[in-house]
Amino acid sequence: MKVKVPKEIKIGVYPYTVELVPNLKLNKGNWGTTNHTEKTIVLDSALPSVELAQTLLHEVFHVVSVVFMCGLDEDNVERLANGMGEFLFDNLNIEFDWSSVQEK
Ligand SMILES: [Zn+2]
Repeated sequence: MKVKVPKEIKIGVYPYTVELVPNLKLNKGNWGTTNHTEKTIVLDSALPSVELAQTLLHEVFHVVSVVFMCGLDEDNVERLANGMGEFLFDNLNIEFDWSSVQEK
């Protein structure tokens, strides 16, 4: 089943804009970044779809951690994203549709 990734993801009261950007890894050193001041989740557009989906989950867990004051460190964000990825992609057979997300 395909699920459309919205261009804005609202966690708590805060909408975060989701953007695909070329060469993010090259320029910033990460496949994905979250800016909690600008409320943006930026992902490297060169990622293959499976890794792109997994990276979005990772960034969403960073947002959840900040909004709900979980205090998750990088390792625990990654563990939760991996576990949720296995549930969504391997068990529910969900695929993300990126057609609503803007490429900048
Ligand atoms: Zn991270």
